[in-house]
Amino acid sequence: MSERRSVDAVIVGAGFAGLCMLYRLRSRGFTARVYEAGSGVGGTWFWNRYPGARCDVESLEYSYQFSDELQQEWEWTERYASQPEILRYLNHVADRFDLRRDIVLRTRVAAAIFDEASDRWRVRTDDGTEVTARFVIMATGCLSSTNTPSIPGRDSFTGPMLHTGNWPHEPVDFTGKRVAVVGTGSSGIQAIPLIAEQASHLTVFQRTANFSVPAQNRPLDPAEQRAVKRDYAALRTRGGQMPFGFDTRSTEVTALQVSDAERRAEYEDRWAQGGLPFLGSFADIILDAQANATAAEFIREKIRALVRDPATAEVLLPRGVVGCKRLCSDTGYFETFNRPNVTLVDIAAAPIQAITPHGIRTAAAEYAVDCIVFATGFDAMTGALTRVDLRGVGGRALRDKWAEGPRSYLGLMSAGFPNLFIITGPGSPSVLSNMVPSIEQHVNWIAACLDWMRARALERIEATPDAEDAWVAHVNEVADATLYPSCNSWYLGANIPGKPRVFMPYLGFPAYVEKCDEVVARDYEGFAVA
Ligand code: FAD
Ligand code: NAP
Repeated sequence: MSERRSVDAVIVGAGFAGLCMLYRLRSRGFTARVYEAGSGVGGTWFWNRYPGARCDVESLEYSYQFSDELQQEWEWTERYASQPEILRYLNHVADRFDLRRDIVLRTRVAAAIFDEASDRWRVRTDDGTEVTARFVIMATGCLSSTNTPSIPGRDSFTGPMLHTGNWPHEPVDFTGKRVAVVGTGSSGIQAIPLIAEQASHLTVFQRTANFSVPAQNRPLDPAEQRAVKRDYAALRTRGGQMPFGFDTRSTEVTALQVSDAERRAEYEDRWAQGGLPFLGSFADIILDAQANATAAEFIREKIRALVRDPATAEVLLPRGVVGCKRLCSDTGYFETFNRPNVTLVDIAAAPIQAITPHGIRTAAAEYAVDCIVFATGFDAMTGALTRVDLRGVGGRALRDKWAEGPRSYLGLMSAGFPNLFIITGPGSPSVLSNMVPSIEQHVNWIAACLDWMRARALERIEATPDAEDAWVAHVNEVADATLYPSCNSWYLGANIPGKPRVFMPYLGFPAYVEKCDEVVARDYEGFAVA
């Protein structure tokens, strides 16, 4: 690692986004340094080591495409790779492309201040190091800032308290332990079946029942993998044309235009094949309440059939709109509630009042436990960005500008913050898409922009306020034409007390890519350059 005090770009974060950005910039002859708070690379896959953690987009698609050699060489062992395998993959990428020499681990970027006189960013890390950069690229992740609810008495608990998003590196042994899991989103739903197998007793505290479909995970058939690799581009292209950026086998057919029997057959087929393509069953599932209700009722029927105790099944039945919160993909989740050592506690009916030294007290009862697992999610999309003291033109802080909700142009830049790029920022498809292709699309766009500026000896680029206003309005207009704003999801910031309720991601990967390409073709329309 060179001690250089000035680089072309500082990249914050060494997950999928930071690693790929470093590779791209280096190959184009820019100097770059990555700062990563963790003690290793991998981002999400470094931090989320809880039992059962795995991807919910198939590994063959949830992977980089920037190097054909890489995608040909790497052998995925399962349809949905586990966290250790994805972390191995990202470490392999770091080694294979010799990325580590420009990555500083265990170092959090605390602040970045834009100096208008020199058009440079002054970046300060938590160990007091200062470095100057022409560009700052935030690869800080949409789901990297954990949310642990501040429940009264939390600090009085005498046993271990874990968060799925910041899991210990040493194996956690729940054998013989009474364990509580708070939260039944994707993380809780993946962890609960495995914790139940080990713990003497597991108590699940559920606030909102969630829709989940079976992942139908399995070892990846080598012949199937070889077939994909023979024409990888075909799979990537197909995925890129789908609304969520991966192959959901989406159709133009709407749910109510077919007969009840045809609709049911389609849902059964998707259920049997497993995973998130369930949402691709019909074109209007996330657009039309009546269409959505047919999918919701189908899942509820499945839950009733899977869970033996009708009273428990009733509490597990999700109400509302499928897909409005991210659909979960599980392995044996609902069946876990048939185990004699698992108790479901409905904290919507009797909320948690306090954590006590030896357990959790709700309005109805106290539950003695030895260990608490918070599967309570993240301050999504904005949390990691507003945690850094980012100051743009006139010393204005990003966290102040975004106090009423994030504002950006294309999710890539925010007006008043020149030369500051965000990878998968709010206003881009990000969490409503297969994130690895979305990350690569942003990385390629940013790298090409820097090249374009270099070729014209330009020092500065920023989003114009008008372009930003129009984009924010468009993001909302698209969301408002769907069922997404109708529930309390983290897409809206509704999971964090006091966070403004604003729909943050952009729906529609293909349209978004087209818009980004158009902006470039029109010489970076909507951006001011100097
Ligand atoms: P991250 O992987 O979050 O990396 C960001 C890094 O930045 C972190 O390591 C963090 O420590 C670092 N950082 C943040 N702030 C600072 C700072 N100030 N200074 C220094 N370092 C900082 N998406 C999918 O599309 N498909 C999936 O199947 C899928 N599964 C997921 C499973 C889990 C358990 C979770 C939590 C998320 C999942 N996601 C999935 C979303 C996932 O976050 C993205 O797919 C992807 O890994 C994000 O990569 P990233 O590099 O943008 O961010
Ligand atoms: P999440 O979806 O936000 O779920 C958090 C859970 O905790 C919800 O059940 C929530 O209930 C509950 N909760 C939050 N605050 C609470 C409180 N104060 N008291 C009681 N319960 C509380 O978080 P996540 O499960 O970590 O998933 C976040 C995202 O990461 C996912 O949506 C997905 O994008 C990604 N992810 C993907 C996978 C995968 O399958 N590949 C796995 C994990 C994560 P409410 O619903 O009532 O708010």
